[in-house]
Amino acid sequence: MALWYCRVCGLDYDYSPWGPNDDEPDYSICECCGAQFGIDDYTVSGAQAYRRQWLSTGSSWFYPKLQPADWQLEEQLAYVPEKYR
Ligand SMILES: [Zn+2]
Repeated sequence: MALWYCRVCGLDYDYSPWGPNDDEPDYSICECCGAQFGIDDYTVSGAQAYRRQWLSTGSSWFYPKLQPADWQLEEQLAYVPEKYR
């Protein structure tokens, strides 16, 4: 079961890259949108700006080989936490 959803693209993770208390980002990179946790998703406006940029440049996967064959962008974006939409 997914535990955490990327604040930029909504990709599901089974752990939180922001740590158990949501305040210790591990600065890893989202495998889908390429946002760096703790930097690109640090603020709501930052996450929104990164998302706009990502969407406007084709919304391709940062690690293309990890993209599921049946991936649906719109479905995934629905999982972006409400605060960061
Ligand atoms: Zn992402």
